[in-house]
Amino acid sequence: MTVRKETIDRLASIPNVSVSEGVLLSRHTRFGIGGPADAFVLAASEEAFAQALQLSQASGAPYSVIGDGTNLIVSDRGYDGIVLRLTAKSLQQDGGTVRAEAGAQLQALVDYSIDQGLRGLETMTGIPGSVGAAVYGNAGAYGHSIDERVRQVRFLDGTAVRSFGPAECHFRYRESIFKEHKDWIILSVELSLTPAPAAELRETAEKIFKIRLEKYPATMKCAGSIFKNLILAELPESVRRQIPERVVREGKAPSAYFLEQVGAKGMQSGDIHVADYHANLIYNAGDGTARELCELIGELKSRVRKHFGLELEEEVQYVGFSPTPQPA
Ligand SMILES: Cc1cc2nc3c(=O)[nH]c(=O)nc-3n(C[C@H](O)[C@H](O)[C@H](O)COP(=O)(O)OP(=O)(O)OC[C@H]3O[C@@H](n4cnc5c(N)ncnc54)[C@H](O)[C@@H]3O)c2cc1C
Repeated sequence: MTVRKETIDRLASIPNVSVSEGVLLSRHTRFGIGGPADAFVLAASEEAFAQALQLSQASGAPYSVIGDGTNLIVSDRGYDGIVLRLTAKSLQQDGGTVRAEAGAQLQALVDYSIDQGLRGLETMTGIPGSVGAAVYGNAGAYGHSIDERVRQVRFLDGTAVRSFGPAECHFRYRESIFKEHKDWIILSVELSLTPAPAAELRETAEKIFKIRLEKYPATMKCAGSIFKNLILAELPESVRRQIPERVVREGKAPSAYFLEQVGAKGMQSGDIHVADYHANLIYNAGDGTARELCELIGELKSRVRKHFGLELEEEVQYVGFSPTPQPA
């Protein structure tokens, strides 16, 4: 065990912090995969989280911050260190401005903004996970992503609380500056929304939710799309020529297209399966392991590389691997 008893005792003494030892991270990931964490820390307020983070850093033990675990592959060995999670989840509205703490569920924020008659987040209904991670990975769906509405992000840069406007966040497709600085932890976000009839927003959200449920049943142990789609303009001409126009959406070539061409649908590695109706959706059908999952991801990447000369990039994030799994 990498985390000293003294560190655990000190973490546990912080008000609004709870610490558990040896918690199986499979219980905190939607894949249902992941071994134990030496220490699993839940912080219910920003101040508690900042103290716990500082203490973790000073302890010299490895530490990692997670959200709701819906986009994570955690190693079967677990995490030799401290796993922290901010659970502060307040939502506040002032005119067209909504402030959300990072631990709030994105769905709660979507529902809240709809209830307030505010447009801008309704197409993000059904995306699981926390607000903090949604900003980190610039989550989105149905042609919109959260960056379109972000006005300010407050974060801890390791020592101090800072604020960035949207330009400084360097948002791109499923990317932000927070992915480049993994030690910067998002505390809260301020969004700018537009007044609109709540009933209309609710109708849009309900339609989207229904479609999403068919693709991602509520009990499915998965992470949504495993690989990011590819920006068409960034692909070599030789690859672009092979992509039928009908599959291109919003300037992106879906990874699912390339995966389907190399026979991904229905592939298996132990209990880990590629959905037979969607080539970019991998799920755990029972007692699948991170090893099986990584093997399947490696095989898919290798097939696409050989066939198209393309490197698929995971959207999903790895925890507890050293080094991070490399292309097969
Ligand atoms: C069924 C299903 C469907 C999905 N559909 C979509 C979709 O349509 N669009 C989409 O964009 N995503 C989708 N996803 C992926 C997932 O919902 C998002 O990536 C989500 O934002 C992850 O949130 P989380 O809280 O679970 O983060 P986690 O999986 O716990 O963590 C993801 C990353 O965020 C980082 N992180 C977490 N909190 C913070 C913080 N406060 N500050 C800084 N970094 C932080 C973690 O370190 C980690 O690297 C889907 C996932 C599932 C399971």
